[in-house]
Amino acid sequence: MTDSFQPVSGFVLPRFAGIPTFMRLPHVPLEDPRIAQVQVGLIGAPWDGGTTNRPGPRHGPRHLRDASTMIRAQHGITGIRPFEALNCADLGDVAPNPADVQDSLARFTAFYDRVRDAGVIPLTAGGDHLCTLPILRAMAKDRPLGMIHFDSHTDLFHSYFNGFLYTHGTPFRRAVEEGLLDPKRVCMIGIRGTAYDSEDRDFADSVGIRVIPIEEFHKRGVEDVMAEARAIAGDGDTYVSYDIDFVDPAFAPGTGTPEIGGPNSWQALECARLLAGVRIVGADLVEVSPPFDPSGATAYLGASLMFEMLCAIAVAPR
Ligand code: MN
Ligand code: MN
Repeated sequence: MTDSFQPVSGFVLPRFAGIPTFMRLPHVPLEDPRIAQVQVGLIGAPWDGGTTNRPGPRHGPRHLRDASTMIRAQHGITGIRPFEALNCADLGDVAPNPADVQDSLARFTAFYDRVRDAGVIPLTAGGDHLCTLPILRAMAKDRPLGMIHFDSHTDLFHSYFNGFLYTHGTPFRRAVEEGLLDPKRVCMIGIRGTAYDSEDRDFADSVGIRVIPIEEFHKRGVEDVMAEARAIAGDGDTYVSYDIDFVDPAFAPGTGTPEIGGPNSWQALECARLLAGVRIVGADLVEVSPPFDPSGATAYLGASLMFEMLCAIAVAPR
């Protein structure tokens, strides 16, 4: 820990003032020589080119940055101080091409290749869920990763619109096909809602992905479910992907594909807190859609979930 990586305290400058980087951390672009000292990079992924329904997550990073100025340095329950445990910085945004899906995927992977080569653990603010695929292409370059995935949806469909393979409903199908994920070390939590069919769930069963649907989540409770998720991830390198639509839309209405009957904001935070002990090599918080979030409550929950994941990264085995 060095002083230059500490967030600006609200004791020094009120939290509504100043340029809103993630959690008031220093802005360290990949070109900055200080990148060599950064251990966790908070990154904006302002792209929703995979969205099949209501759009808007391209505006997520800017709103999450603003909401994240509410975050203080110390966890209220565990006392973890992640900015003292690890050098954290805001690496800025990946530059997408909003008019071209394939070009955007390539730009993302090129960016995260550099993040990986710099030895930085990425904590990404989406963006829609297709953003996770090019991130995994970089982070899982050497070996398949385990994954703990919070979502209302599996995002495991084969294709949309008569054969189009790259949408926010298909990233993990591609990731399994490309060998980026070890399906036996993947756990998907919170799946619910009306369905087109069971093609995604059948695929999960066929490759050994563990799906914990919402009815099982509510019956067993957060602690029991998360104990199983940690066991599935095991002690290998694991990615965490958190879709804000995992949370009930009463608490997180600002998203494109809400599904009722989900966890409340307390349970949502607790799930992220109970990632402690997982060997996290990267994480993201996706699908916050500011046009559907006029109160800002979804963005604030999203920023709070990012802080929970940052605390889990701070105590992760390395
Ligand atoms: Mn998703
Ligand atoms: Mn979803």
